[in-house]
Amino acid sequence: MTVQGLIDYHLHTSTSTDAHSTVDEYCARAAKLGLAEIAITNHMNLQEDRYHLTPAVMAEVWSEIQACQPKYPDLTIRLGIEVDYFDDLHDEIAQALPKYAEAIGRPLDFVMGSAHEMDGVRFASRKQAHKLLVGADPIPIYEKFFELMTGVVTSGLFDIVAHPDLIRRFTGLHSPFVPFEEYKEAANAFIATLVENDVGFEINVKGLVHPVEDMYPTKEFLVSYLKQCKSAGRAPILVIGTDAHYPDHLGTNLDVAAQRLRQLGVSEITTFSQGKRIPFQLPELIG
Ligand SMILES: [Zn+2]
Ligand SMILES: [Zn+2]
Repeated sequence: MTVQGLIDYHLHTSTSTDAHSTVDEYCARAAKLGLAEIAITNHMNLQEDRYHLTPAVMAEVWSEIQACQPKYPDLTIRLGIEVDYFDDLHDEIAQALPKYAEAIGRPLDFVMGSAHEMDGVRFASRKQAHKLLVGADPIPIYEKFFELMTGVVTSGLFDIVAHPDLIRRFTGLHSPFVPFEEYKEAANAFIATLVENDVGFEINVKGLVHPVEDMYPTKEFLVSYLKQCKSAGRAPILVIGTDAHYPDHLGTNLDVAAQRLRQLGVSEITTFSQGKRIPFQLPELIG
């Protein structure tokens, strides 16, 4: 299959301490693959200096985008952000976000909220996840994770959330496989919060290369979300992303997400321009 005509809405440049790509390297790869649109979404984490993003650095990234856009006329390049949300830092985050818009002279295209840490443990980190997961009953941990994510959604700061069930990342390595059925109450309550608050989420394909070997979120999560959207009369708000940290990761497995969406009857996802949602038609899958 091909990823031609798709979008990749989760990309980190070298500005994020753990990533290794320039905007131009991503654009070159995206143009080669025939993607329609990409979004740069570097980390902003007020608790960790090495993951923090200053408005000045955001302005540098914006300059890179502006320099690249005329070079790649068939590719739309967006600028977003991936914010680590902490309930006790709500006001600080709310005050910090407008400074990016000031620095680049326009609103960011979208703001993505996320959680990578619980009880002081970075559960998404290979070095730390075992502290939370090894030998523990995973169900209360999953329930607590969805409570944490509920706080991200109700903060009112975000257009979408990233990798909405990232707690599954080390399933298969540090904890056994946990069927959706066993934590569905917590997941469904979180999904209801997404729908009520008109906040969307990213289908993150990076999990396909993690021990869990699946996308974030699970198929069951996505099915429940689509069902809840339908009964609430709301249009789903979905983007797809690779969470690339290297140029070669851009675009990888996006076709798997597109195929899953198509199988579930979804033909339209969402893109963002300066905070406004724009419906995006999924291309027909070729090959
Ligand atoms: Zn993330
Ligand atoms: Zn990320």
